[in-house]
Amino acid sequence: MIIPILSYGHTHFKLDCRDMNLVAIVAEAENLRKKVMEATNYSRENFVLEDSNGRPALTLLWSSEKDGTLSCWSVRTGLYIGAFKPEAWDEDNRDKLLNTLDEWCDKANQGMARCSECGQWVNAYKKYSYTGSVCLKCYNPKKHLPPDSSG
Ligand SMILES: [Zn+2]
Repeated sequence: MIIPILSYGHTHFKLDCRDMNLVAIVAEAENLRKKVMEATNYSRENFVLEDSNGRPALTLLWSSEKDGTLSCWSVRTGLYIGAFKPEAWDEDNRDKLLNTLDEWCDKANQGMARCSECGQWVNAYKKYSYTGSVCLKCYNPKKHLPPDSSG
């Protein structure tokens, strides 16, 4: 079976982001996802964003067409990195956010994790839940629990 990967080229993504707000990008991405699904008969919810060297870097997931929140995971580690709200994606902020995404791509491909408490990128971290990670300073064994397997 051929499993399609919805890959978003680095340059292409940046050009789209210059011209469109996040809700429009999400709508277009969703449109593309449906077309790929029809053509391949395979359901795929995630996009992969490449870094500037064309290597897969971030798994992107839009929460919904209307909401438009963009959540990111590291392709390399599978760990959750963070999310962008559509209202943060206004034109004044866009360049800054795109630089942030560039940074996330590079750090993720270095195998680093972004602490979900303090936001620092670290090499040493503790995993919790399914895809969460925290730095060693923020780690709290009472709060950062492994995935609940009780059912
Ligand atoms: Zn931390």
